[in-house]
Amino acid sequence: MRQRSSAEHRDLCALAPELSESLVAWWEVHGRKDPALKPWMFRADGRWPAPEEALDPYGIWIAEVMLQQTQLAVVLPYWRRWMEVLPTVEALAAASLDQVRLQWQGLGYYSRARRLHDAAQTLETQRWPRSLEGWTALPGIGRTTAASILSSVFNDPLPILDGNVKRVLARLKAHPRPPARDDALFWSWSEALLDPLRPRDFNQALMDLGATVCTPRQPSCTLCPWRLHCVAYAAGDPNRWPVTDASKPLPFQVIGVGVVVNAAGEVLIDQRLEEGLLGGMWEFPGGKQEVGEAIEATIARELREELAIEVQVGEQLIALDHAYSHKKLRFVVHLCRWIAGEPKPLASQQVCWVKPQSLSDYPFPAANARMIAALIDHLRADTLSQLS
Ligand code: SF4
Repeated sequence: MRQRSSAEHRDLCALAPELSESLVAWWEVHGRKDPALKPWMFRADGRWPAPEEALDPYGIWIAEVMLQQTQLAVVLPYWRRWMEVLPTVEALAAASLDQVRLQWQGLGYYSRARRLHDAAQTLETQRWPRSLEGWTALPGIGRTTAASILSSVFNDPLPILDGNVKRVLARLKAHPRPPARDDALFWSWSEALLDPLRPRDFNQALMDLGATVCTPRQPSCTLCPWRLHCVAYAAGDPNRWPVTDASKPLPFQVIGVGVVVNAAGEVLIDQRLEEGLLGGMWEFPGGKQEVGEAIEATIARELREELAIEVQVGEQLIALDHAYSHKKLRFVVHLCRWIAGEPKPLASQQVCWVKPQSLSDYPFPAANARMIAALIDHLRADTLSQLS
């Protein structure tokens, strides 16, 4: 295997100047070099920067963290809103964590928001880092994000290796193993290909190729500048790469959720613990259904165990499925009437009663946002039926 890897590496190094040149030439015409798509990559006067010009690190740092695990089209409106509300590192450092999470609501992988907020506390007291080590010392920044920030901001000659780049390189070489098992080799390929005179442009071109041409399913090989050298294309079925380890089916769980209403018409929400999935986000309380348990019993039990309250479980409000990267959940949500017990945060950071119209002041994960919409619809229908 080592012999094969070094032969692959030699082949790629020999072709690197030609591949690099053809990729940047393709990008000049077809890349996403558009202020409407990547505003953080443009100077204040609306120009793409010349090699010797630097860009504002703040906007690029925020964009790069948002782009981890998330596509450009999804990130763009979030980034614009963020830059209006939190336009500087000082504004981010001074904001509360809930304000920051509100800006992040719906983007997923919520620990990224907390880490940005943590990093801002450090960055407001120092100059922007000028090295990989300086950036990776910050929370939530790995090697590829750091390299992407430095090459974008300062045109530093640093290779990148995100999921898109791994896919393109795995296909280019028809690599026989999952990229994650050969990380060092893939980094060496990205480094060999990097245009030392235009690293900013080259890295943007590589990302654009992965996002728009060499896509996960059905790559558009006829439009690809690397087609003539691509081993996966020559093999006739590029979809066979990257090779993956056989994946296990995702575990499935049913979660009973209670939207508990008190006599004042307020609903009960709790804030998840900081550590773990969706850390620090607010949600309606609930928990896993046990084998053989009716969902109404699940909800009553979970609210007793986690909040020390007694409720009467009423009609179903909504049922919805939601997939995370490591599990699939079905939420079955019932309206509940609060009967007894002062709510206590036995398994959360805090609990509070909130008027339904004030729920938008709290950051909720995506599945809970759909529950809120169902609740608001239900209350509106209820009001209309009382009026008629
Ligand atoms: S030829 Fe096809 S598979 Fe190969 S790098 Fe280009 S788009 Fe990807």
